[in-house]
Amino acid sequence: MTGPGNNKATDVIVVGGGIMGASTAFFLRKRGHSVRLIERGLVGQQASGVNFGNIRRQGRNLVQLPLSNRARGIWERLPELVGENCEYLCTGQLRVSYDAEGAEDLETYARDAREHGLDLEILGPEALRQRYAWLGPDIVLGSLAPQDGHANPRLTGPAFGRAALKAGAIIEENTEVLAVEKTGDDFEVQIVGGDRFRAPAVLLATGAWAGPVAARFGEPVPMVSRGPHMGVTEPVPYRIKPSVGVKTRVPGETVYLRQVERGNIVFGGGMRNEVDLEAIRVYPKPEYTLHQLPLLQRVLPGIEKLRIIRVWSGIEGYMPDDQPVMGPSGKLPGLYYAFGFSGAGFQIGPGVGDVMAELIATGATSTPIEAFDIRRFAATA
Ligand SMILES: Cc1cc2nc3c(=O)[nH]c(=O)nc-3n(C[C@H](O)[C@H](O)[C@H](O)COP(=O)(O)OP(=O)(O)OC[C@H]3O[C@@H](n4cnc5c(N)ncnc54)[C@H](O)[C@@H]3O)c2cc1C
Repeated sequence: MTGPGNNKATDVIVVGGGIMGASTAFFLRKRGHSVRLIERGLVGQQASGVNFGNIRRQGRNLVQLPLSNRARGIWERLPELVGENCEYLCTGQLRVSYDAEGAEDLETYARDAREHGLDLEILGPEALRQRYAWLGPDIVLGSLAPQDGHANPRLTGPAFGRAALKAGAIIEENTEVLAVEKTGDDFEVQIVGGDRFRAPAVLLATGAWAGPVAARFGEPVPMVSRGPHMGVTEPVPYRIKPSVGVKTRVPGETVYLRQVERGNIVFGGGMRNEVDLEAIRVYPKPEYTLHQLPLLQRVLPGIEKLRIIRVWSGIEGYMPDDQPVMGPSGKLPGLYYAFGFSGAGFQIGPGVGDVMAELIATGATSTPIEAFDIRRFAATA
């Protein structure tokens, strides 16, 4: 991707072209703001392009549901907005439990989530087996979110990038930002090679790599980076419509899976890999796949017969409270953050872009995001 014109000043510079940066650039253009997006590699190449693909509101902390509901509306309108549906399937998300504790957690969540606009259907063992004959026999309860689903992450970030470009954004790929500085009323963003770009507003959307830049602005965050462990099977006839996840209080026992229409079953969960932020590498451990297999077979016994054709991981930033950093800087007017999505940013991504564009353009948001303010770490980081 490239961009129109050589004009070096724009209203906004977005640093980082994951789903957060790309969708913010798109929605800023929709509001008529000029925007330059600068991405070190390719748009949607990192976490946003290699994630599991859950489009899941169920299970989110209640404080995220308004944002997640807003994002859901955008997922529904993807073809109209960005010209493609990114293999988004609104086929539901089913969470299952094996014991009384897990069942209690599912029922409590279903009760609480209703007040936040998320209706869930609780299903006992009989109903589950009637609807989903492929489920394992140990499951005692299920909670279905009929309006959740899944999508193809490889398609989504680039689709927002192309749509932003088409709407007039400047998209600089293979361009690493070296420094962001406040100079007078503007920010100056320096890239490798020496060029500098100016803008009165900057959004830092550099995912797991955002911490040191925020710290340089006097806002350190206790973010840690890890790589969720993924895999995919050979294709088999398409039967598993909802995305499925296990609700358990046992650490390391959570697994999830979804079948794409071509037939492959994508899965993840269990342990998280170590990452090297400097080398931009994550090293998936084979033993984590071995750890996943019995857990997956408990949910879906039939998976035992399938060959695994690929495993992978990706680099994600996790906050101690599992909530992102999203909103204005507490130190500098014109500086904004959207990072640290803690393993759950894909579904809310388009909503984050819409909300960040609204915040940058108007100074306020119609969706509450105060819980994600970077100032919550001011005393602790
Ligand atoms: C394996 C895996 C599975 C996941 N599964 C799910 C899921 O099923 N559902 C869900 O909702 N979420 C999931 N997530 C989380 C989700 O993918 C992330 O929260 C989300 O993609 C974060 O988007 P982002 O734009 O903040 O970060 P990223 O996609 O990482 O984008 C940040 C971008 O900033 C760029 N960048 C960094 N430094 C610089 C620099 N100096 N100059 C220029 N550019 C720079 C990077 O190259 C990168 O492209 C998963 C994550 C992983 C890794």
